[in-house]
This record gives sequence, C-alpha cells and structure tokens, in this order.
Amino acid sequence: MTRSVIVIGAGMVGVSCALALQKRGLKVTLIDRREPGRETSYGNAGVISRSSIMPLNNPGLWKNLPKYLGNRHAAVRYRLGHLLANPGWILGFLNEARPEKLAPRVAALESLIGPSLPLHKRLMTEAGIAWRLRDTGFLELWRSEGGRAAAEARRTFLEDHGVRVEALDRQALSALEPSLNPIFSAALHHKDSASVDWPGAVVEAYAALFAARGGTVLRDEVTALGKQGEGWRVTAKGGQHDADLAVVALGPWSAELLRPLGLKVPLNVERGYHRHYKPAQGRFLNRPIYDVEASYMLAPMELGLRLTSGVELAHRDAPNDYAQIEQVLPRAREAFPLTEPAEDTTWRGSRPTLPDSLPMIGEAPRNPGLWLAFGNQHIGFSTGPVTGEILAALVCGEPAPADPAPFAPGRYLS
Ligand SMILES: Cc1cc2nc3c(=O)[nH]c(=O)nc-3n(C[C@H](O)[C@H](O)[C@H](O)COP(=O)(O)OP(=O)(O)OC[C@H]3O[C@@H](n4cnc5c(N)ncnc54)[C@H](O)[C@@H]3O)c2cc1C
Repeated sequence: MTRSVIVIGAGMVGVSCALALQKRGLKVTLIDRREPGRETSYGNAGVISRSSIMPLNNPGLWKNLPKYLGNRHAAVRYRLGHLLANPGWILGFLNEARPEKLAPRVAALESLIGPSLPLHKRLMTEAGIAWRLRDTGFLELWRSEGGRAAAEARRTFLEDHGVRVEALDRQALSALEPSLNPIFSAALHHKDSASVDWPGAVVEAYAALFAARGGTVLRDEVTALGKQGEGWRVTAKGGQHDADLAVVALGPWSAELLRPLGLKVPLNVERGYHRHYKPAQGRFLNRPIYDVEASYMLAPMELGLRLTSGVELAHRDAPNDYAQIEQVLPRAREAFPLTEPAEDTTWRGSRPTLPDSLPMIGEAPRNPGLWLAFGNQHIGFSTGPVTGEILAALVCGEPAPADPAPFAPGRYLS
C-alpha cells in the first residue's frame, strides 16, 4: 500500500523533502501557513555555495570573540538577554569551535554541499527555471593588505578540499566585475558555486513542480502534532490531517512543534536582514560579492542589488534592529555605486542553527514515523535538495547520497 506523508513547512527544505519523497512513490501533502518559499528561503543571498564547508563556529571564532564582545561589529551582534536565556546553545556553539571538533564537521558539510549544485540544476531544469541560475560563482573580497594572507589561507583550505577557487589580482577582478570600485587588495573567485536571481521564486517553482506531479499543497497554520494510531496527526487551524509519516521542516520554527512531544531541540537562530538598492546607471554585478572585512554580501537580484547583513543573535521574534544593515550600507557603497532603495521595506529572516552548525536529518528518537529536516543554518538554500534526498532515502531504506550519521537527530535527542 502507498504510504502517505505530510511535510510541515514549505521553505526550500520542506519543498525539497516533498519532491524527494514524491519521487519515491509516497503520497505527499505539503503544508505551510504561507505560500511556499516566503520566509527564510525568500530573503537569503541566493548563493548555491560549494565553498561553505567551514562552519561559522570554527577555531577562528575564538580569535574574533574579543572583536564581537563589544557588540559593534557588523559580522556578529547579540542581545545579551537572549544569550543569557539560552546558555546551553551558546556554550554548545562555542564548544564546537574547538579545533578538535572541526574536521568531522567540515567533512559533514562537504558531503552535503558536494551534491547541492547538481541537484539544484536538475530541479531547475525540471521546473523550467534554469534561466534563474547564474553559473558565474561568487567573489570573496578583502580590502586590507592583511587580507592577502587570509585569502591565500582560504584558497589553500578550499583547494585541499577539492573546491575550485581562483585568486584574482586587481586587474583580473576589474575584468570580471568592471563596476566594482578598485578598493580590494585580494579576491577569490569561487568557481564551483552559482547563484540565483530570486530565491523565493525558485522555491515557488519547485513547489509548483511538486503540485504538477500530483502533490497536494495546503495553506494552513499548524498548531500541533501528535501520534494517531500507527500514524501521525497534524492539527492546523483549518482542520486535521492524518498520514502514515510526518516530516517537520519548519526551519527556525521547528523546535516549538516538537516540544510537546518531549523532543527538546537545541535550535537557535542567527538573524539577518536584507534591502534592495538600485545600481547607478550602467553599473552592474555579474555575481554576488562577499566583502569579508566589511561583513556584508551584495547579490544581484531581479529587484536590484540585495544587500544582506551578518549575524544577529537575538530571539527569532524580537523587534528589528537595523544597526547592522545601516552599518554595512556605506561600506557597500564604497565598493559599488548603489543609489536609492528599490523598495521601502527591510526584510528580516532567521537562519536556523544547531550548536554544531549541522542540520538534523532523520527519524526522531522514540517516535517512529516522525522525521526531522531542519537546522540548515547559513546554507539551507543550497542544501535543501540534498537534505530532501537524504531524508527520503532514509524513509525508504535506500542508501543516502551522504552519510546521514553526522545529521542524526539522536546526537541531541534521546
Ligand atoms: C540574510 C541571510 C542570507 C542567507 N544567504 C544564504 C545563501 O546565500 N545561500 C544559502 O544556501 N543559504 C542562505 N541563507 C540560509 C537559508 O536562507 C536558510 O538556511 C534556509 O532558507 C532555511 O530553509 P528552511 O526551509 O529550513 O526554512 P524556511 O524557509 O524558513 O521555511 C520554514 C517554513 O515553515 C513555515 N511555518 C512556520 N511555522 C508554521 C506553522 N505553524 N504552520 C505552517 N507553516 C509554518 C514558514 O511559513 C516557512 O515557509 C541565508 C539566510 C539569511 C537570513
């Protein structure tokens, strides 16, 4: 008999899980309180990064901590009350930054990121949106003379892990991106990465593909999840939905739904903001740039240039604080001629992060038929499809495209 499954959350991760389960013959329902791809998966920088194999909490974090403690840095800001309210997460996050913890996490991230771009390319072709993908990589840029050594160390690290990066001198950088102002002393071109021109539209197209293949997409707010006979019952404001299996893919909202089941997930968020600006007449970018020392990304999008900010450690629902995005705007203007805003709103989103910066992919302990797929931190747009493939392979007892052990829910849940 065909097994039924309800996937809760239609961000990049949930939609990808739905597609991967559907491909394996399950009867899949996807439920979200909004249209697919309207939350975290909407506002990111759209980079499908082959290079993001170094977790943010790496040994270098210890060196940078004094810089961040002053709470004025554009890369990381925090609200003290939030950290004090979540000591377990922050201590776990810092603990994972110890040198001996690094190698297995880099290997795990590599195993996720390796298949990500090929999977996206296939899905984009199937969804008829291959034109949204720019196969032009992205640029990582340093301003100071000291940046040269940092760039060199980064290049060596990535090449040791089989990632193609090219160091560019000023001339080569200006040939690649003629509209950039000549303020950078070192540049790396991440050639194995790509980007899209509107991340929300990509999720939307993947969800449309799922629906066109016979999947059910429901718009409703889920309020509870519980066992029902041999299967699972999802209670939403508009009614109840029963299925043999349930997948929680609620990104930064995942922990709340699981808590009543006795599953206490140490999930926190790294918030970030974006704004769109128009370029000066005739100026353009061919690919996203990451200005390392100024701590922002600038990504060409359908609506203009999307300026994204660093990490804000605050409660997911705390009021906005525009300090970081305001701080990076003049720095971005030093690099590229941004003119007026292309829209009057500032978007905020929450990267869902577990202390080890690895997602949780697998069946919940003590809860057969309940599957978890969340915690994709800074790389969930890239790694949504591979997360879906791993999860669906595990559900169906097939070999997964990556070793699922590092992502097992049992590392935090018992
Ligand atoms: C500023 C910024 C820049 C980023 N840049 C990149 C990048 O360049 N590349 C990259 O790979 N990643 C990037 N990321 C990370 C990436 O965006 C996330 O990891 C990813 O979007 C997480 O996807 P998700 O599906 O887990 O969560 P989401 O996209 O947030 O999806 C969760 C879904 O759950 C739904 N939901 C919540 N509660 C309920 C409920 N009660 N009932 C029903 N539905 C509910 C929401 O509506 C939402 O659609 C960035 C993130 C930020 C913030």
